[in-house]
Amino acid sequence: MPYSVYLANFASIDEDTLRGVSDTLTRYFNEIDSVTDGDSHSFTGVRIINNTPTLLPADLLCYLVHDFINSVVVEFDSAISTRITDETAGITSVRSHGSSPPIAASEVYIDSITDSGTTRSTSIANLIFHELMHNKSADLSSRIHTHGGGGLAVETLDSSSVLSQRNIVFMRARMGNPVIQWTGGFDANSW
Ligand SMILES: [Zn+2]
Repeated sequence: MPYSVYLANFASIDEDTLRGVSDTLTRYFNEIDSVTDGDSHSFTGVRIINNTPTLLPADLLCYLVHDFINSVVVEFDSAISTRITDETAGITSVRSHGSSPPIAASEVYIDSITDSGTTRSTSIANLIFHELMHNKSADLSSRIHTHGGGGLAVETLDSSSVLSQRNIVFMRARMGNPVIQWTGGFDANSW
């Protein structure tokens, strides 16, 4: 099933930085794609958006907001405020309803990133990928921090963090999992 990675730019990130973020994420997801195991989860690109997208079942979505004050995921799960510390660079909340697919909402806090230039793009891309690891594995208990294969799965990331071979295998195994992406953030942001 084809999928795209949608990024909602609610943090006024400039074009050059966004291009760097998009290039880095494209490289990561192409690496996941390149592992052939018989099924076909074909990555079709990163899309930067400002309005509610029409998502295909396997698409992924991450909101890029300035900081927790501007959180949109808090509209999905008001309890995330209890998980926020000064160190929090992003968050993912997952809701499960019995046998139906879980619904996930991910966001990263752009103002928490102090790098500039290309390292800024890499840091943002790394954070997004990390939250999408939580998202796609419907990870309610932060198990990826210890079981996600190191690399971009660990709790604290920066521009020098790299996608590990185990991250690729981990995500590849989960790309077929149905996880509905919460799109309510577009309404939450238009206050
Ligand atoms: Zn995490």
